Amino acid sequence: MSELHLATKSSPIPGTTRDRLGRPLRDLRISVTDRCNFRCVYCMPKEVFGKDYQFLERKALLSFEEITRLARLFKAHGIEKIRLTGGEPLVRRNIEQLIAMLAAIPGLDLTLTTNGSLLQKKARALKDAGLKRITVSLDSLDDAVFMRMNDVDFPVARVLEGIDAAAAAGLGPVKINMVVKRGLNEDSILPMARLFRERGHILRFIEYMDVGHTNGWRMDDVVSAREIVDIISAEMPLEPVDANYRGEVAERWRYRDGQGEIGVIASVTQAFCRDCTRARISTEGKLYTCLFATGGHDLRELLRGGADDARIHAAIDAIWVQRSDRYSEIRAAQTVKLEKIEMSYIGG
Ligand code: SAM
Ligand code: SF4
Ligand code: SF4
Repeated sequence: MSELHLATKSSPIPGTTRDRLGRPLRDLRISVTDRCNFRCVYCMPKEVFGKDYQFLERKALLSFEEITRLARLFKAHGIEKIRLTGGEPLVRRNIEQLIAMLAAIPGLDLTLTTNGSLLQKKARALKDAGLKRITVSLDSLDDAVFMRMNDVDFPVARVLEGIDAAAAAGLGPVKINMVVKRGLNEDSILPMARLFRERGHILRFIEYMDVGHTNGWRMDDVVSAREIVDIISAEMPLEPVDANYRGEVAERWRYRDGQGEIGVIASVTQAFCRDCTRARISTEGKLYTCLFATGGHDLRELLRGGADDARIHAAIDAIWVQRSDRYSEIRAAQTVKLEKIEMSYIGG
């Protein structure tokens, strides 16, 4: 928090702030709730997030007005894209209202990541509120495997219905995120690739990461992006595609027969920290400059303490210019030492 107090009154030139490694600020992920109706074993394992787990109180959460004010302020620092996440963003009451407020900010690419469980009900309202695109997480097409992963017996069919509803509402092309954990769902890689290639959705495979300290991560559990590409390519040949833009997280591969593409997010085996332009705001308004940061900077304190825009601009600038995070690049040396923040809190 000390950086906030270092903040000076002189305003930076909007959009030009660079961190210590020369990286600009381009993407903002905002966690709108720390709650979720799933208990994915790699994210919110039941042993930790059980009945007695204390989630944040309602008044601790940033209000929609506070989130929108921050979004406007961050826009001036070069933010081009906002992703709403959580926890499960669709469990936050009246989320459509927030979407409408954010969609009114010109020039922002607005998207959201969801587990898809409430999407069939909400897709149309999200689109009408101004959401442009959506990413749905789904780890298997096999009910037994998927239920073992979400740990609340949620069936695959309901997520597929949600994906269909999103596509029908015009939120496509829908992106699908699949976390691959060895011994749990590697057998689902090919069936998932086949189905979403046929349906024209972009499937993105995510290497299982050591976020937080509750998921018992081990390197042996990671199925590498390379391995995933090889498995798919053996049946449906793939070739690499250039990134859409610098700093794109997913490495793109297209099917050689022209039938669509996939992405692989190799956050563990091929760290992409040097192009990382992402900041995260947690549910209670802390700014994190890395998914693996050990601490955040309290923006809610400023918002609720009556700070004017210039003060908050200066604080954001002071935090970003000091940023030197590159956790994934130095993971091997640090992974056992750090008290990391849970992904469901900081936002994936
Ligand atoms: N609840 C929403 C969902 O599941 O899509 C949004 C929040 S979730 C934390 C965002 C993304 O992070 C999801 O695609 C999820 O699969 C991914 N994720 C969670 N824990 C992970 C881990 N340990 N390694 C890799 N990805 C993870
Ligand atoms: Fe919930 Fe998403 Fe985490 Fe699964 S990955 S527990 S759906 S927040
Ligand atoms: Fe960005 Fe931190 Fe992930 Fe590196 S480890 S890509 S700096 S969020």
